Amino acid sequence: MTATTLQTKSQKHDLLPKGKQVDLTTISSPGRWKPEFAVPFNQRQLGKKILISNDMGDWDLLTQDEFRDFIEGKPQPGEALYEKLKARNFIAKEINVAAQAERWRRKKQYLFYGPTLHAFVLTHRCNHGCQYCHSSIVGMDRTDTDMSIETAERAVDLVFQTTSPGITIEFQGGEPTANWEVLQHIVEYARQKNALANKALSFALVTNLSLMDDEKMEYLLDRKVQICTSLDGPEDLHNKIRIFKDGNSHANLLHWMKKINARYGELGLDTNLYRVEALPTITKPSLHRWKEIVDTYVEAGCKAVFLRKLDPFGFAARTAKTLGYSMDEFLEFYAHAVDYIIELNRNGTQVMERHASIMLNKILADQEPNYLDLRTPGGACIGQLGYAPDGGVYSSDEGRFVAAMGDEMFKIGTVDDTYHQLMTNAQTRAMVMSGLNDAQPDCVSCVYKPWCGQQVEYNYKTQGSLHGHMRDSVWCKKHKSIFDYLMYKLENADEKDMAMFRRWTTNRQLEHFLQERAPL
Ligand code: SF4
Repeated sequence: MTATTLQTKSQKHDLLPKGKQVDLTTISSPGRWKPEFAVPFNQRQLGKKILISNDMGDWDLLTQDEFRDFIEGKPQPGEALYEKLKARNFIAKEINVAAQAERWRRKKQYLFYGPTLHAFVLTHRCNHGCQYCHSSIVGMDRTDTDMSIETAERAVDLVFQTTSPGITIEFQGGEPTANWEVLQHIVEYARQKNALANKALSFALVTNLSLMDDEKMEYLLDRKVQICTSLDGPEDLHNKIRIFKDGNSHANLLHWMKKINARYGELGLDTNLYRVEALPTITKPSLHRWKEIVDTYVEAGCKAVFLRKLDPFGFAARTAKTLGYSMDEFLEFYAHAVDYIIELNRNGTQVMERHASIMLNKILADQEPNYLDLRTPGGACIGQLGYAPDGGVYSSDEGRFVAAMGDEMFKIGTVDDTYHQLMTNAQTRAMVMSGLNDAQPDCVSCVYKPWCGQQVEYNYKTQGSLHGHMRDSVWCKKHKSIFDYLMYKLENADEKDMAMFRRWTTNRQLEHFLQERAPL
C-alpha cells in the first residue's frame, strides 16, 4: 500500500459543518422576548452553543441558557453576561453610536474609492495546456491574440482614472511573459504616469515560470514586480494536470521559485515575507492528497497555502467529469488539510491556509482585508476590473472567463470609455446591487453576514442570475461551512492554538513592492 492510498478517500471528517439556524420558539416563547434589549443580531446553533453576531462584526458563543436570557432581556448591569454582551456591542442602550460609526467607516473604507485591482490579460497564448484553464488559450504562434502597445497604453490611462489611492496592475494570460515587450512597456508607462498621479502603485505577475530567464528575472526584481505562480502539489499531480509538452513544469517551477527567493535574500529582503507566491487549484485527483499538497508547499518554503476550489468557469466546466467534485468532497478535503496545517504549526512549522487567514482577520482581528470575493458589496467593477487583449473591459477576471465561454454578460465597456461611464452604467450598478449581502434573502438573517460576501459572476454561472439563490448555492455552502469549521476550532482552541490563529491574522505590508512615490 502506498502513502497515497493510506490517505484514504473514505476518511470522513467528523468536524464538517453541522451548524443550523435556531428556531427561537423552541428556546423561549415569543411573548417573553424583549427585542428592544438587543441590537439587531443573527444566530446559529453550533454544537451545544449558539453563535450570535451583529452587523458590526462582533460575536459570541452563548450557552442555551445565556441565549434565552439574552433574548428575554434579563441580564442586568454588573452581571457577567450583561458585561460580556455590553463589551461586544449587543445591548442596544449601551451602544456608542459615534464609535461604532467610525469602526464601520474603517471597515468599509473600500467604498470610498474605485477599483484597486486591474487585471491585464496580455495574451491568450500559452505553452501549457492545464486541464482546468479558465482562459481561452491558444498556441504560442497566435500572436494576433496579444495586447498591443496602443491598447495597453489606453488601458493604463483608464486605470489611472480610478479614484482609488492604490493601484495594482496584475499581468495575466495565457502566459503573460509571452508578450514580454508589452509587459515591460506597461510597467514603464505606468511608472511615468505615476510620477504625476503619485498613487500607491504596484505590479503583480501571474506566470507559470516556463519562459523565465535571468534577464527577465532581474528586470522583474529591479521593477519590484511581485511574482505569483501555480503549484498544484507533488510532481506527478502537478504535471498530470498542468500539461507542458516542452519539459517538466513542476521541476522548472521549483527551480525558479528557489532562484527568485534566493535573489530576494541577496537583495536584503526578509525572505519570510518576500517569496514567490504560489497557489494550488484543487482537482479531483487532489482530493485524497491533502497531506502531500501541504507538504509540497512547506518544502518549497511557502508560508501559506490557498486551498482553492475548482471554479465553474472556462475549460474547467468542460472537464468537470474528470476534474470536478462535489462541494461536500471539497469541504472534507479542506477540513483534513487545515487540520494537518494546524498539526504542523503545533509541531513548530509555521504555515497557514489563506481562506482561514482572511476569515480570522475579520472574526478575531476586526479587520477588513478587502478580499474581493468575501466582502459586501462584492468586488465586481468597484473593486477590480479585467482588461482583455482587444481592449474590452470586464467586471473582473471571472467576468472575462465567462466571456471566454461566449457570454459577454460581464463586459462593461472598452478602454475607450471613460472611467465615469464604466462606473455608472446600468450593468455596473446591477452587479453592485446584486453583490450586497443585505440584498440577499438568506444572507440578511445569516450569522456570517458581517464577514461574508458575494461574487455575482459565480452566481450567474452556477445559478443563472446575478443574485443567485443562497439556499441552494455552493458558493454559500462553501463559505458557511468554512465559517462553521473555524468557529468549532475557535471554540475548542487552547492558548497555543489561539496564538496560532492570531498569528494568521497578522498583516505585514509588502512595502517593497510599492513603486517609489514622488515627495509631496
Ligand atoms: S452567502 Fe451564505 S454564508 Fe454567506 S452570508 Fe449569505 S447565507 Fe451566509
